[in-house]
Amino acid sequence: MQSATNQSMLSVGLRCRCPRCGEGQLFDGFITLKPRCEACGLDYRFADPADGPAFFIMMTMAFPVTAFGIWLELAYDPPLWIHAVVTLPLLLLACVPVIRPLKGLFIASQYINKAGEGRLATPAAPSTGHTTKN
Ligand SMILES: [Zn+2]
Repeated sequence: MQSATNQSMLSVGLRCRCPRCGEGQLFDGFITLKPRCEACGLDYRFADPADGPAFFIMMTMAFPVTAFGIWLELAYDPPLWIHAVVTLPLLLLACVPVIRPLKGLFIASQYINKAGEGRLATPAAPSTGHTTKN
């Protein structure tokens, strides 16, 4: 087993591997997480990238392809089936293959940076601000 320190966040994330050991698979299916790493036993419950991957894919891939579809429509006024065979497959090809490695990258980033939900600090014991002498 390789040491976790030898694994870079980018490497394990894009290969969809466990962020601790770099060997175990992260996903069970397309983007469903496994409950834990089969190699080192890391519990994947910490992993919650939420809409992060979808947001970045939408900003980097979907908007340019949609702009292309709009340009195609305005420039050539093609029949609708042209969009069905050009714009829609281009949109799917630009977005779907990127989801899995980007989600892996987000999860690796969460693990390496110890990211989690914010918690309130526990309040300190009440203090009167001065000491008493006995
Ligand atoms: Zn592992």
